[in-house]
Amino acid sequence: MSAVLIVEDEQHLADGLRFNLEAEGYTVDTVNDGESALALLVDEQQRYDALVLDVMLPGKDGFEVAAELRAAGHYVPVLMLTARGRPEDVLRGFESGADDYLPKPFELSVLLARLNGLLRRREWFHRDQTQSQSSAIPEQSSPPTADAGPEEFRFAGRIIDFGNLELRTPQQTIRLTLMEAQLLRYLIRHGGNVVSRKAILEDVWGLNEDTDTRAIDNFVVRLRKYLEDDPAKPIHLLTVRGVGYRFVAEGEK
Ligand code: CA
Repeated sequence: MSAVLIVEDEQHLADGLRFNLEAEGYTVDTVNDGESALALLVDEQQRYDALVLDVMLPGKDGFEVAAELRAAGHYVPVLMLTARGRPEDVLRGFESGADDYLPKPFELSVLLARLNGLLRRREWFHRDQTQSQSSAIPEQSSPPTADAGPEEFRFAGRIIDFGNLELRTPQQTIRLTLMEAQLLRYLIRHGGNVVSRKAILEDVWGLNEDTDTRAIDNFVVRLRKYLEDDPAKPIHLLTVRGVGYRFVAEGEK
């Protein structure tokens, strides 16, 4: 049973979410501000499988909460609830460490699908690790992104450690969010080949057909800061105009 923490100050919305998530078999806690969420997650080290985090909160907003969580080394998957029609919120959400976002108001079925997507990806990710450590565990239901990749990928003086969700450069160690790691793994697996934004949305994010594809671009901007010596002149994570992206381990000008 998955445990979800909902951070939402609109009581009727929090209650509605709790009711419906519990009906789906989740264990649910709700808090109405970011400070309480941080106290539970960081100070008390309570375990949750996912966080539903509203952006507009009294006190610390959702961006600050996500950023503080990540800064504290906490990598619970975060589904952020943003205001519709504000792409800058989406960008800020990903920059602060959100894994996915959903504009308000949303259909409950869509939220459930997103949440399930986050939890499934998390399970696949951990199963990938288990498989690569013990090998030859039979696949039960193989999702398209579940191919076990290597634990580590080395390129251009960098090491991506998928097991520990870290990217190490000679200068620093960067913690990756689950979505960053999944996207990197996907790009690396398709190394040299162009992958479209739509394919990324479907294969990495699950079937989020209503997700704005610009969110992918925001992720890429962020990943370039980790992957590239000069993020403004990328040689590894390349834009293919009008199509999507291409990862080149050896670098290409
Ligand atoms: Ca709110």
